[in-house]
Amino acid sequence: MSAYHAKKRLGQNFLHSPEIIERIVALADPREGDTVIEIGPGRGALTLALAQEDCKVIAVEFDRDLIGYLQKLLRRFGNVTVVHEDFLKYEPEAGAFKLVGNLPFNLTAPVIDWTISHCSAVQAAVFMVQREVARRLGAECGSRDWSPMSVMAQMHFDIEISFDVPPKHFRPPPKVTSSVVRLTPRPVPPPADTSFLETVLRESFRQRRKLLVNNLVPALVPDAAAAAEILASLGFEAKSRAEEVSVEQFLKLTTLLAGRKIQ
Ligand code: SAM
Repeated sequence: MSAYHAKKRLGQNFLHSPEIIERIVALADPREGDTVIEIGPGRGALTLALAQEDCKVIAVEFDRDLIGYLQKLLRRFGNVTVVHEDFLKYEPEAGAFKLVGNLPFNLTAPVIDWTISHCSAVQAAVFMVQREVARRLGAECGSRDWSPMSVMAQMHFDIEISFDVPPKHFRPPPKVTSSVVRLTPRPVPPPADTSFLETVLRESFRQRRKLLVNNLVPALVPDAAAAAEILASLGFEAKSRAEEVSVEQFLKLTTLLAGRKIQ
């Protein structure tokens, strides 16, 4: 395996620090009877540690060149299955599961979307992401990092930014610091259909520096007066910006706008 060259296009930055691996596994907290799906096992650094726990492990890797190596490495563990597939197309069997992944940078946003769309089956997710993405996921309403991703993720999950991981813990080292985040499902299930909410979020944050009242026009409301009226009915200041609107307020705004939607 020493001849293997990491593929940049697949976001291959392999972990080599036993301490970080141990902390990630501890956060996933695999228990007897759990199914843990690992996204992008790479050269098996995390998979080997997960395999030694009393759980079932499904490791989904896209890179064909790594599959034979992984199968050989993990052969002695009866609880591990290596799947050669694009994770974004992977459909797990019925039942609950935990997700673990040192995510390739360009896959982070789609994996978060995948996790949201499978939220009813996700018991917990522990992801290594770029620190900047972790900040957006765990942002507080009103902060600079509050974004559509924060709203969507926090509507479905409680987010804990657990710890930062400097580039030296990876081979090759990435350019930026990473962070490990833990997503735990929120007790109150969000609405099943979030597609209109996503439209509302996209338009609301279209130009961050603009007032919310102006961002809603014309895609969602015909004119500024009507938009101001809707916002006032929700108790918003006329000068509100999207980054000041909480998850609950976005849900209310979406319900109101949906009622007025031109079909
Ligand atoms: N888990 C390993 C570790 O921590 O050392 C590897 C992490 S590396 C950052 C990301 C891994 O995801 C690589 O092995 C890469 O080939 C894999 N990958 C990239 N795109 C993928 C996809 N669409 N589906 C599944 N795996 C993918």
